[in-house]
Amino acid sequence: MKYVTITGGVLSGIGKGITAASIGACLQNQGLKVDVLKIDPYLNVDAGTMNPNQHGEVFVTEDGYEADLDLGHYERFLGKNMTRWNNVTAGQIYSNVIEKERRGEYLGATVQMIPHVTAEIKKRISNLKGDVAIIEIGGTVGDIESEIFLEAIREFSMENGRNENFVFVHVTYIPYLRVTNEFKTKPTQQSIQILRRAGISPDVIVLRGEKSFSEQTMKKVALFGGVNEGAVFGLEDASNVYSIPQKIHDLRMDELVMEKLNVKARKDFDWKYPNSSKDARIAMVGKYLATDDAYKSVLESVALCGYKKPELVDSETLENIPEKEVEKRLKKYAGFIIPGGFGSRGIEGMIRAIKYARENDKPLLGLCLGMQLMVIEYARNVANLKGANSTEFNSQTPYPVVDLMEKQKKILKLGGTMRLGVEEIKLFKWSKLHEIYGSEKILERHRHRYEVNLKDFENIFRTKKEEDSQKLTISAMSNFVEAVELPHKKFYIGVQFHPEYSSKVSAPHPIFMEFLEKSFENRNLNA
Ligand code: GLN
Repeated sequence: MKYVTITGGVLSGIGKGITAASIGACLQNQGLKVDVLKIDPYLNVDAGTMNPNQHGEVFVTEDGYEADLDLGHYERFLGKNMTRWNNVTAGQIYSNVIEKERRGEYLGATVQMIPHVTAEIKKRISNLKGDVAIIEIGGTVGDIESEIFLEAIREFSMENGRNENFVFVHVTYIPYLRVTNEFKTKPTQQSIQILRRAGISPDVIVLRGEKSFSEQTMKKVALFGGVNEGAVFGLEDASNVYSIPQKIHDLRMDELVMEKLNVKARKDFDWKYPNSSKDARIAMVGKYLATDDAYKSVLESVALCGYKKPELVDSETLENIPEKEVEKRLKKYAGFIIPGGFGSRGIEGMIRAIKYARENDKPLLGLCLGMQLMVIEYARNVANLKGANSTEFNSQTPYPVVDLMEKQKKILKLGGTMRLGVEEIKLFKWSKLHEIYGSEKILERHRHRYEVNLKDFENIFRTKKEEDSQKLTISAMSNFVEAVELPHKKFYIGVQFHPEYSSKVSAPHPIFMEFLEKSFENRNLNA
């Protein structure tokens, strides 16, 4: 087994995850079996309770694990589904160690960071399978939390053939100073020193920055980093992240990594990716706008269909303005996505956008919360149930058309207790959704606590083909309502599940594709 370990220097958010996934994609594309372990040094047990405005989206795996969004990059780039075993957090490691101690498994010993915590980390690493494992350490070297993980990896590499079986890649940031027109390598020199202090010398150094680096910069980093000049690679910002595996291959970084690991390509490199330049003029009306990462999988799902990413509209700004103003703001868009979310902030603005789209027959795709809001909007404005709402936003609503799932009513803890992961869904044969998927049974991922209250409000929906097709049609069911649509519209579909989590490079999701095609046809370039 061979390992490529990725550490980050200077700053977080410089694309370490994308670089790691791209290296993995290059190796896999050339016929190697690639496994992944993303290490998150934070103390949360999983990413489930983190605010998307601070930490980016929570990515949900098929097996119902709430992960860091980096796992999404790996799924999309590698084209294969991750599980809970592809991510480990410090929270998991420490709670395992403490549980073991309570069970008496360390009887007699003083339980310590080294060797007990490191042993637990090494155990997770040794579960990896395949030809090459990509191990990405989250955060930046020098973070207190990540020290123990660096130590565990150092030990693991010494015990498993550091020189033949390991490549340490350090992805670091090189700031550019406009005033003096130069790149600055000092922060990188320092981050390499921190790495060395942990007993790890990098084999490959990847420089990240706004524009291409001078030869002098690369030479300097090589000298300080203790690597050959040929082991320093510059990856300047790319407008399309899916081009990065190609770039890595063109720079022959993958070749160097394989050479160091003494593995051979089994087939020729042939990476195909979308160029994402078609403009369907769509907007996403959301509420987590502090970082672009909050809706990562949705944005990437659009890009993977070959379209430009949607513009983000802050739903709260649609709230306290006259209806005419809402129309003015939204007129220029050809289609709308209403994404997932939690809590009452910004909800009414999303409902206004939904009303606008429905009344003007503009393509609309509702995802999870988005679908629940489509039901609320329809109940209020078409079925005349004034004040209809989800009990998530108003527990006193006279018409709780969306309500807490029965099972959830007994749950007190918030971590990892939603309805999570993949479940089989039945699509009604006569629905648009069935036409889009081309099959009757699908598997999609979930992450929610509330559901459409079909029991009390069945009469506002169409549940059978024979019924009035102008009514809001339920087009998919599991034990819960899984999708609604208005079949006479160009595209008006809401899904309780998250199709955005399963888009892959070369396998865009059919729901997004259909939505984007319909929006593209509908775009009015003069608007
Ligand atoms: N807040 C809603 C629920 O819990 C929707 C969740 C989501 O959009 N992921 O059901």
